[in-house]
Amino acid sequence: MLQLGGLVPLTSIDFPGHLAAVLFCQGCPWHCSYCHNPHLLRTDVPSTLEWGEVMRFLQERVGFLDGVVFSGGEPLLQPRLPEAMQAVKALGFKIALHTAGIMPARLAKVLPYVDWVGLDIKAPFHAYKRITGLAGSGHKAAESLDLLLNAHHVDYEIRTTVDPTLLGKADIEQLAVSLAKCGVKRHVLQTCQKPDKSGMF
Ligand code: SF4
Repeated sequence: MLQLGGLVPLTSIDFPGHLAAVLFCQGCPWHCSYCHNPHLLRTDVPSTLEWGEVMRFLQERVGFLDGVVFSGGEPLLQPRLPEAMQAVKALGFKIALHTAGIMPARLAKVLPYVDWVGLDIKAPFHAYKRITGLAGSGHKAAESLDLLLNAHHVDYEIRTTVDPTLLGKADIEQLAVSLAKCGVKRHVLQTCQKPDKSGMF
């Protein structure tokens, strides 16, 4: 069902106000220098977990956990994400999604099943390539933000990781103003932690 790189059985911080498990989806096509999970970027590795194992794990946690977080990597890269979310929701769990909004069309498909989204908005949209290494990535993020803000049943947090070597004070101020103009109610700045040469923090 999903190509997974790992599972955290219990978190109280990844889905605000909820006790949740986290499923880490494998693979991301962007190349942010500060990526927090560089070991999850490759797509040419086998899933570390079978979907049947995940569902058995979750069935045993019904009544103990409030929700399940789909994180990564980039969960939207998984073509069967809507199906996976529906299966998890059918067990009674709330659904959270951590995404950089790389594929707006896929975000639109999963929003009906999602209760909360942590959306990374990495920079003013015109400056995205500085962070992701990919031209056009800012357009994708902007489209995803628009979809999220129009999904009125979904709670959210917009997160910006601040690497001072890539984003200056003026960039952050410009971004904060443009997000406020879009109607964003919750924008959080995160400190950048870069991996060392071994990929560890
Ligand atoms: S979008 Fe997220 S997962 Fe992908 S490279 Fe950037 S920080 Fe890592």
